[in-house]
Amino acid sequence: MSTDWKMMVYHRLPVVLQESALWLYASYLNRLYYGHGFAAARGQFATLQHAPAQSATEWQDRRLRAVVQLAATRVPYYRKCWADLDWRAVRRAGDLPILPRLDKQTLRQNEISFIAEGVAQKSLWREKTSGSTGTALTIYWPKTMLPQWWALTEVAIRNPAGVGQEMPRAMFGGRSVVAGDTSRPPYWRYNRRWRQVYFSSYHISRVTAGDYIAALRRYQPQWLTGYGSAIALLAECALEAGATPLPMRAVIVSGDTLLPGMRRSIEKFFTCHCFDSYGQCEAVSMAMECRAGRLHVVPAAGIWEILREDGSTCRPGEVGEIVSTGLLNDVMPLIRYRLGDYAAWAEEQSCSCDNPHPIITRLEGRVDDYLVAADGRRFGRLSTAMKQSPTIHSAQLAQDRPGHAYLLVRPGSGYDRRDAVAVRADVLGRIGRFDLEIVELAEIPKTPQGKFRLVVRLDERPELMQLYRDVIARAAGAWEQAA
Ligand SMILES: [Zn+2]
Repeated sequence: MSTDWKMMVYHRLPVVLQESALWLYASYLNRLYYGHGFAAARGQFATLQHAPAQSATEWQDRRLRAVVQLAATRVPYYRKCWADLDWRAVRRAGDLPILPRLDKQTLRQNEISFIAEGVAQKSLWREKTSGSTGTALTIYWPKTMLPQWWALTEVAIRNPAGVGQEMPRAMFGGRSVVAGDTSRPPYWRYNRRWRQVYFSSYHISRVTAGDYIAALRRYQPQWLTGYGSAIALLAECALEAGATPLPMRAVIVSGDTLLPGMRRSIEKFFTCHCFDSYGQCEAVSMAMECRAGRLHVVPAAGIWEILREDGSTCRPGEVGEIVSTGLLNDVMPLIRYRLGDYAAWAEEQSCSCDNPHPIITRLEGRVDDYLVAADGRRFGRLSTAMKQSPTIHSAQLAQDRPGHAYLLVRPGSGYDRRDAVAVRADVLGRIGRFDLEIVELAEIPKTPQGKFRLVVRLDERPELMQLYRDVIARAAGAWEQAA
């Protein structure tokens, strides 16, 4: 179901045939993900996950030398770009600054020249990103990397949360398993092959939450995964309606920003720990939250650097851009890839859990989560300000013109308007003169991909302008009525 025509056919089928199609598709994926190579990779990665940090670093350095050699000798882009560089001097992670950083735009414009020569087309797996601005990027994985990636996901993400592939689960992801204009249940499809209920993230509301909860009770998944914002919305609607809590073993979220209020709702309704995780389809780095609530990097996925804009290394506690070198893809190696996300190395690196790998903190919004001042300056990394008030469920900055934006605030329990005023003051403290209007509303719009974004610049997203105008006008009307 990777191409549009397949989705068109899928949406025309009756539910029972759609579920058969899912079964067939999952059976196909099952061979690729969990077939040949999976067991061996799982064993190797489990050892690495529990190995002392020093052994993990040695493993990374060995893989790094192989990836760099492959890139320099068989990948056209790097061969050209590194022609005058002493790439052979890259022996360990600390030598990476010998090589230039790679940005997303360069990759997008030269996709094919990043693929190693002499690789058979049919051995490739295409992983597509939708991209926040709608520009797609295709990452080519060797098919042999799939069982490695899923083995790593199993031992580094699922198992630490106490769950695994063999347990029934529910997914709230970005696929449109249900047609967008559907207005009655089911808003999900059941994939019998994986005992997985795939829920639409796009149909959750106060009206439909009861149907979702009934389906969860019927299919009895033991854990949930997907977009935190979607799972939190469901939990909130259920709590509001007075539904009995629905215990899960764990909820593992990824893919969008998890604010404290969202996490609280999830943990309250599903009575379990909500684990945040970090990854991307470029598959160059991965991090997983432990039970102590700290984000540990997963060494087998890639080598992390956290860098200042000028490329120098940040000191612990200093927020910088995440730059990653993937260690698993030997068809399309991404070396010193600028992910466009921000984080800092934790100053306190010891943790009460048994995970020995480095800890990152202050994982912040995307690089493109910035506001534009009237004079054109850009201000990013605003998520710390947005996360400061526990009574605010969620908040978003919607910028409609330079120098002016709306601070959309969705109140949580115990909320007082002064909390929003404090967030505004914090944001303004960072950016100075700026017109920031507070708007309280019941729900903050998401992107068409169903993701929650901290900043939406409407002048660059004309397709969203009307939606936001309506939402803001409605909120203002409701506020006047109440006043
Ligand atoms: Zn820990």
